[in-house]
Amino acid sequence: MSAFTIEMSDPSSGARLGVIHTAHGKVRTPAFVPLATKATVKGMLGAEVASIGYEMVLGNTFHLMLNPGAELIGRFGGLHRFMGWDGPIITDSGGFQVFSMGHGTIADEIKGRRAGGREGAILAIDEQGVRFRSYVDGRERLLTPEGSMAVQAALRSDIALVFDECTPFHVDRDYTARSTERTHRWLQRCVRWQRENGPDGQLVYGIVQGGVYEDLRRESAAVVAAGGCDGVAIGGSLGAEKSQMYEVVGWAVEELGGDFAALPRHLLGIGDIDDLIAGVELGIDTFDCAMPTRLGRHGTALVPDPQARWRMDLIRSARRQDERPLLEGCPCPACSTGLSRAYLSYLCRSGELTGMRLLTAHNLTFVAQLMMRLREAIADGSLAQTAADLRAGASPTVCSRAPVR
Ligand SMILES: [Zn+2]
Repeated sequence: MSAFTIEMSDPSSGARLGVIHTAHGKVRTPAFVPLATKATVKGMLGAEVASIGYEMVLGNTFHLMLNPGAELIGRFGGLHRFMGWDGPIITDSGGFQVFSMGHGTIADEIKGRRAGGREGAILAIDEQGVRFRSYVDGRERLLTPEGSMAVQAALRSDIALVFDECTPFHVDRDYTARSTERTHRWLQRCVRWQRENGPDGQLVYGIVQGGVYEDLRRESAAVVAAGGCDGVAIGGSLGAEKSQMYEVVGWAVEELGGDFAALPRHLLGIGDIDDLIAGVELGIDTFDCAMPTRLGRHGTALVPDPQARWRMDLIRSARRQDERPLLEGCPCPACSTGLSRAYLSYLCRSGELTGMRLLTAHNLTFVAQLMMRLREAIADGSLAQTAADLRAGASPTVCSRAPVR
């Protein structure tokens, strides 16, 4: 059976309604995937994450191999039992994290921060893999394509991502071209290792690189799509602005049509509300991002306010007297019990764990409801109108109808 079923395609855009079938159950798409980077969705229990409406979480190879180590998690039979989550899990390959130590993140580059600010550091990159110094204990470690797949095999994730070089933002076309070609060679090594040694039923996604160069992006998408994977992820530098990001993602998705349209498509590390709407319209099936949980831990709530980038900063003094809930009609534990913005603001300013938890739950609920609305809209042919409403500030929670499936 194919890993992905497309149930409906939107006639007005590239959006599709589908189901990813994994060894631990199905994932209805388009879907957002909360981060459980270090084997926990920070501050939340697995049952809470599931009850909000999430079917899959994302664990991270790089962090988990360093602490607590693949061997320990392997002794538990994998990440599911270790962290108490019995639904689907996708694991990132570690490529992004290990290369971020050397290159810095795109945000670092844009803001002029120096790369490698943490204790960890890249020591060498060559055809074999990446030698780096662990930020946990300072020891020298090697991460190779095969090594990444072996860790993901021990974690027994339902979807493994191939090991790639996350090409940085600042490099020139020539570096991007050479790096992307190496990523393609690593793709073959990952797929070969996984097919021979990986756990039964584990799906493998290839990763499209190519930076912001149209020919490289298109070529990478075509190579990855033909590489024998079960799905495709789009990663690396997508540009400095949202308009460029949509263009770059659009090039990749165009190459993933035709015979390759049945491959599920994941957009790595993207999760702003407007990007989720645009990504769904482009034909992306799943997304992951630290944004909803990270914002929640830092006193910012997601609200239907496009002018403010869908964000409400509760640390600001304007909220200290505000008796209203965060969002009328939101089913999260903060809004549904009528807790005021004033109380949440007080908790966040005081650094109380309860405040972080409540805002994390609210933000995850907001994104889950948004994705549910988008799925409903694809199913009933109203995506264009729904997307317009959401971009005009409609709440994804109060207008929500009963789930389609
Ligand atoms: Zn809420």
